[in-house]
Amino acid sequence: MKRTIRDLKNIGGNKVLLRCDFNVPLDKYGDILDATRILTSLPTIRYLNEQNCKLIICSHLGRPKGYDKYLSLFPVAVCLMKYFPNKVRFCPKVTGPVVEKYIDEMKNGDILVLENLRFDPREEENDPSFVKELASYCDVYVDDAFGVAHRKHASNYGVALKKPNAIGFLIEKELKVFEKAFQNPKKPFVAIFGGAKVKDKLLLIKNIIGKADTVLIGGGMAYTFLLAEGINIGKSIVDLDLVDEAKKILSDAKNANMKVLLPVDHVALKGEKVVKTNFLDADMVGLDIGKKTAKMFTEEIKKAGQIVWNGPLGKYEDKRFKNGTLQVAKAVAKSSAYSIVGGGDSVGAINTLGFADKIDHLSTGGGASMKLMEGKTLPAVEVIDTL
Ligand code: AMP
Repeated sequence: MKRTIRDLKNIGGNKVLLRCDFNVPLDKYGDILDATRILTSLPTIRYLNEQNCKLIICSHLGRPKGYDKYLSLFPVAVCLMKYFPNKVRFCPKVTGPVVEKYIDEMKNGDILVLENLRFDPREEENDPSFVKELASYCDVYVDDAFGVAHRKHASNYGVALKKPNAIGFLIEKELKVFEKAFQNPKKPFVAIFGGAKVKDKLLLIKNIIGKADTVLIGGGMAYTFLLAEGINIGKSIVDLDLVDEAKKILSDAKNANMKVLLPVDHVALKGEKVVKTNFLDADMVGLDIGKKTAKMFTEEIKKAGQIVWNGPLGKYEDKRFKNGTLQVAKAVAKSSAYSIVGGGDSVGAINTLGFADKIDHLSTGGGASMKLMEGKTLPAVEVIDTL
């Protein structure tokens, strides 16, 4: 059991460094387009603030190469000011004497938001000098940045090794949800996989053999599996190096009595023309599951006790190819099964389609949730002390 913030006793008056994932989308005016990542961090921030400590919050935002005024964490600090009036201050630096001055001026119960960690290239390199500076700000370190927990960066890995530490409520919840879903699934357990990165997804499917009852495969990754079954895929996206691996997975799944359903019809491009077809000719590119497949998948989803979904069923960003993802999202939203959606694109699809409130757990971390689904541990969690 990893130590959580509930296990940190008598931290009132301490300086606590909290790593959050405030990687929110901003428009060109710096307005936050979706504050979900801030809102999901609030329980941890509120709890630590109630302990009357001096709370120093750090996060990354985007992928800046050095300082970039469009990726400042200032708008995030302003957003937090609404929830913690008269308590939040923004420090325009990540390290150096300015940060030290702001920290010296803090009173118990104050919250300081540091500038974007990634303005300093040493963050992603887990550079010891950067780790040392971050660690010097605090007595205790708390990690609640699930979105980067699969990475070994200075602010979520290096600094945890230097200080008494704990995970926050968000990471705790994400870990619990995935652990329960994979170790003690509600049956029938239906897994839905889509998207285009076949290599990553193969690991998910491998880990789910013996756990799930049914796996529905759509999206770009389906074509590697269809080819493995000897079915024509035209010019659809495929990873030829992984066809044998896909064949083995299909055979292992069969031996484990796991039902695997692949698309039986497609929405494809033939030149410039969109066609609906059961068979892909040599000049066709499959870009969405067809109606029959969507119906077949929906029937399986209806029977589920638990659903785990990762990856869109088609190229859903293009409205001509979004129907499959929409139908599956609708079916998952309607279902009374316990539902988990993980992976940046599938969560994005659920949000754009407006079904977020119908899903039991929308994971806040794409890469990190994938690792948990693969049955792997997360380095930034591993480094936290156990009880
Ligand atoms: P992933 O990151 O692996 O979940 O992949 C997500 C991406 O897969 C999205 O950008 C989709 O547009 C893309 N995608 C889904 N289905 C297809 C397809 N049939 N052909 C090409 N790209 C696809």
